[in-house]
Amino acid sequence: MSHPDSADTRCRPIVFVVTGPSGSGKGTVLSRVVCPGMGLRLAVSATSRAPRPTDADGDYHFVTRGEFEATIAAGGFLEYAEFCGELYGTPRSEIERAADERSDLVLEIEVQGARQIRRVCPRAVLVMLLPPTREECLRRLRGRGSETKERIQRRMAAYDREILAVGEFDYVVWNVEVDAAVCDLKSIIRAERLRTHRQLAAGQAAPRGEG
Ligand code: 5GP
Repeated sequence: MSHPDSADTRCRPIVFVVTGPSGSGKGTVLSRVVCPGMGLRLAVSATSRAPRPTDADGDYHFVTRGEFEATIAAGGFLEYAEFCGELYGTPRSEIERAADERSDLVLEIEVQGARQIRRVCPRAVLVMLLPPTREECLRRLRGRGSETKERIQRRMAAYDREILAVGEFDYVVWNVEVDAAVCDLKSIIRAERLRTHRQLAAGQAAPRGEG
């Protein structure tokens, strides 16, 4: 085995799943963790939901429900789920893209998808990001200004369901303060890259980046 920062010969990306209720701050935290030098690729999901004004270019592949269903039929998703009436899925090709880029893969997905990933990639690392309180989560959702009252209610109902799944996750990160949450997530990534079984499986140790 060689030093973790030596040239990388690993052939499989580590899959990091980051799940958290709407309003937990996943987007903010991940934008500071998945950045150049970290050796991470943030998967681009497909969704049937309409773009929001706050969506950045490239956040999602926006598709029709029919196109989404055709991709399901063709086995094109690593995982997919219906969330608050819309379909979301991770294209299978994201794994190869990450491998080609010699990056690990980060999936920002909800709980049903995280469970599917656990089944298909048993060595995936599941992280749940939680807001400090339910009230704070509600406040952040309202603060977005892009959600109708009904959609906020559906997302809070999802929050109540999702939080019950916390025991199925490997790590819980509390997003009370963004800097601390970013630091915690980077520490998890670093520690997972240093796990003996991953380095032995690769034949040569090679976690990259600052993570
Ligand atoms: P939003 O509509 O707020 O962008 O996303 C709603 C929920 O769908 C969030 O919890 C987000 O993490 C989740 N999500 C986004 N992409 C995917 C995906 O590819 N698969 C699954 N299962 N959930 C996703």
